[in-house]
Parts: sequence; C-alpha cells; structure tokens
Amino acid sequence: MQPITDSKVVLVTGGTRGIGRAICLKLASLGHTVVFTYITNEALAQSLVEEINAMTHAPVMAYRCDMTKLPEVQKLFKEIKAAFKRVDAVVNNAGILGDGKPFMMSPDADWWHVFQTNVSSVTNTCRAVLATMISQRKGRIINITSLSGQKGNPGQSAYSASKSAIVTFSRSLYKEVGQFGITVNCVSPGLIETDMTKELSEDYFSSRMSKTPLKRKGTPEEVANVVSYLICEAPTYMIGQELTIDGGIGG
Ligand code: NDP
Repeated sequence: MQPITDSKVVLVTGGTRGIGRAICLKLASLGHTVVFTYITNEALAQSLVEEINAMTHAPVMAYRCDMTKLPEVQKLFKEIKAAFKRVDAVVNNAGILGDGKPFMMSPDADWWHVFQTNVSSVTNTCRAVLATMISQRKGRIINITSLSGQKGNPGQSAYSASKSAIVTFSRSLYKEVGQFGITVNCVSPGLIETDMTKELSEDYFSSRMSKTPLKRKGTPEEVANVVSYLICEAPTYMIGQELTIDGGIGG
C-alpha cells in the first residue's frame, strides 16, 4: 500500500504487545505519527520504537503511563499536544483479562480490578482528549471491546462486563460528541493469538476452534487492519458501530 499524505497523530494505548503493537506498526507503515503507551515492558517499548524508526521517518513516541490513573493520562495528552499540536485519533486498546476464575471463586477486589482497569483506561483517555478534539472539530475514538462483551464467557465475568460497559459508554458518548465531528466506534475481536490468550487451556482453544467457521484464531494484524480502516478510511458518517472480527463464531 502507498503511504498516504494525510498524516495523523494517533495515540494507541497498550502498544507494546499483541493487538496494540500490530496497530502501531500498521499506522506507522502508513506514515502516521504514533504515540503508544505501556505499563511494564520498557524493553518491548524500545524495540517497537526501533522497529518503527527503521520503517518510516514519521515520529514515534513511547510513553510509560498507567491508563487507569487520570492524572498520568492528562499529563500524557499535554505532552502529545506540546509535541504535535493536535490529536487526530485515540485507540483504546490497553486491557487485561483476569485470572479466569469463576465469579463465585473470584475475590471481589480482583473482580473489580479487571472491570475497573478496562473501563477506566477508556474513560480516562476520553476525559483527557475530548476538549482537544472538540476544539479541533474532529477526532476519531476507537475502543477495542471483545466478543466476550457481547456473548459473555465463563471465567471472564469481569472482563465481559467491562467490555460490554465500554460498548454502552461508547454509544452514549457518540451521541454527545458527534455534533463536534468526533466519531466513536468499537472493534470487537474474537480469539486472537496474543500473550493475553496464550494462557488459555488447549481444551478451551479446541472447543472454540470447532465452533469457528474459519477454523483458526485471528491475527493481531487482521484487527489492526480494521482499526486502520476506522482511522483512515471510514466515512465520518460511520459512528457508534461495533465492528466484530471473529472468524464467524459470534454469528
Ligand atoms: P496483551 O495482553 O497482549 O497486551 C496488553 C497491552 O496492554 C500491553 O501492551 C500492556 O502493556 C498494556 N497494558 C495493560 N494494562 C495497562 C495499563 N493499565 N496502562 C497501560 N497499558 C496497559 O493484550 P492483547 O493484545 O491480546 O489485547 C489488546 C486488547 O484487545 C485488549 O483490550 C483486549 O481486551 C482486547 N481483545 C483481545 C482479544 C484476544 O483474543 N487477544 C480478544 C478480544 C479483545 P505492557 O506490555 O507494558 O504490560
């Protein structure tokens, strides 16, 4: 694909691994300015910066930021604004799965930790970026949800509830901010091969694959292509959607 001339400034939360990393690489390959966050993986963050620098002259910035902490997120956006003057798109990708325990066996604090991490990491970026996007009269927010948020999953009640909450949050938000030219859409992956899913049991995988028409897991790159479409190509008139990419299992 030819690099595009309309270079955008995009924040991707949780860029070091899996789906977030693939999104950063895809956007950088198109010539966009990528700012990505991480929480622990300094070495992986550095390696991603090097990989992007080897591929493009477009700026890239790695930022250690706990997305659940609003003051850290606000500071991050101040730095992005200082460096690049604007924010064209935010991809809320950072998230955690939890320990897979059934609800009855899951300590209350652990349950809320998963729910709170996934939801607050989305609301925090929105709280911190919306004034900028409103003054620009444009912006694109993409929230990574999950098929689990549509269907529910045993051992993932906090995770599923958090992703479902993000969908309804997004549907409410776009009704508030659409008038300012800001779109909010969700991308809902099924089973994608990343660190997050490598701990799941073989039994779980084979049962899921037997019900998946495409008979395989998805790749982070396939999700990244959908996110890139929403940022670069989707018409502004497309708003409040949840695009599912699941090999057909959710149908
Ligand atoms: P990974 O576990 O592979 O990567 C998670 C990323 O999020 C890492 O970059 C991690 O940083 C970062 N992160 C986690 N918590 C925080 C935080 N508090 N602040 C900043 N960064 C944080 O996940 P995946 O790539 O598999 O998943 C990405 C998204 O896609 C998640 O929202 C997930 O729920 C969703 N999803 C994934 C599916 C799958 O099958 N993999 C299916 C459906 C949805 P670090 O490296 O520093 O730890």
